[in-house]
Amino acid sequence: MTFADFNFDEKLLDGLTSMGFNTPTPIQQQAIPVVLENKDLIACAQTGTGKTGAYLLPIMDKIVRAEKRHLNTLIIAPTRELAQQIDQQIEGIGYFLGVSSIPVYGGGDGATWDQQRKAMEEGADIVIATPGRLIALLATGKIVLDHLEHLVLDEADRMLDMGFYDDIVKIITYLPKERQTVLFSATMPPKIRTLANKILRNPTEINIAIAKPADGILQQAYVVFDAQKPALIKHVLKSTEWSSAIIFASTKETVKKLDQAFQRAGMPAKAFHSDLDQPERESILREFKNKQVNMLIGTDVLSRGIDVEGISLVINFDVPPDPEDYVHRVGRTARADTTGTAITFINERDQNRFYSIESLIGNEVAKLPLPQAIGEGPAYQPRVKKNHNGHNGSNGSPRKKPKFFRRGKGGNGGKGGGKGPGAPKK
Ligand code: AMP
Repeated sequence: MTFADFNFDEKLLDGLTSMGFNTPTPIQQQAIPVVLENKDLIACAQTGTGKTGAYLLPIMDKIVRAEKRHLNTLIIAPTRELAQQIDQQIEGIGYFLGVSSIPVYGGGDGATWDQQRKAMEEGADIVIATPGRLIALLATGKIVLDHLEHLVLDEADRMLDMGFYDDIVKIITYLPKERQTVLFSATMPPKIRTLANKILRNPTEINIAIAKPADGILQQAYVVFDAQKPALIKHVLKSTEWSSAIIFASTKETVKKLDQAFQRAGMPAKAFHSDLDQPERESILREFKNKQVNMLIGTDVLSRGIDVEGISLVINFDVPPDPEDYVHRVGRTARADTTGTAITFINERDQNRFYSIESLIGNEVAKLPLPQAIGEGPAYQPRVKKNHNGHNGSNGSPRKKPKFFRRGKGGNGGKGGGKGPGAPKK
């Protein structure tokens, strides 16, 4: 099957060729005909499957063919990073089409607000918005959505996790009843069903491999005590082939500590978390995309919506609280049929969490033995009641807080002689 089989406009086909999209991915093959037919759609597809193109391409095809142009499509996304990424895909594909789009999200200054408001008032073809800022703009009462034809909710499960249910329901009150609604979600928990019942009409359902990381990802894990993690991360970065890497941690405090430790050890990395302002975030992502920086340390703010090709290594410094976040984190590697490695550090407390992840993805992730120099870790015994220290009693070592990259005996601080431990393998 090729994109020409959808009878897309010639200019759209040119745009796809220039983006290097030759064959529709499975989600695109299934979703595009449904969206072209103007039917409501609920699609379960994770990031990395080509889900964005699955709704953008048919919508953009309709926009190019439309006689009159007005604010045609509203895409709601959980984070500004995802909104920007979607906007970039529109720009890439739409280069030859003249389809206009604007990402709308909070932060920024008064000028940004004015620019977003103006673009919406004047009727950009596609608006990609995060819920909070969108509601603020709609509340001005000056934005006309009467001709809106398509509403897309992208990463709907994430939006509900972030507490946006009421905001979404409120946004819907501003929209015309006659419209096509398309909902994409990586997982389908009951709350998504509730939302879908409320805002979709007789939707077609498509299910592409529920929340499973792409096949190209080699998933591995180490079962460790917290105190062993800093030495282990150095070992992994040294012994694994990688060209660009992301290290995820669940809290910004851990991200900051890791960042400081990396800087002290002379390992070039950039930290990405919610305390950074928008220009800082954008500049870091730009440097990462341009390969000026090849290692990022981030919270889950980073796990959604960064679209960088060729991330070869993802390290989960801890197990993410939500199994879906695991899928998103490891989905940062092996994008669009490339290969990559995702390695998770599981401490005693996180074992049950990791077990839930393995249940969700339907696979047991290989647990690698710790290198001898790091010593023995805890046993992997999820579902065993732990004592108050998080211990299951099978191993006598006390649970210590990690000391981030102490330099000294046996440690490889990264300075002095040869490549630092963080130097990427070529
Ligand atoms: P997504 O799941 O939408 O985040 O897309 C994952 C990656 O796949 C993005 O980098 C897209 O640019 C890319 N992509 C989407 N569709 C195709 C396609 N048909 N052929 C090649 N790459 C694609």
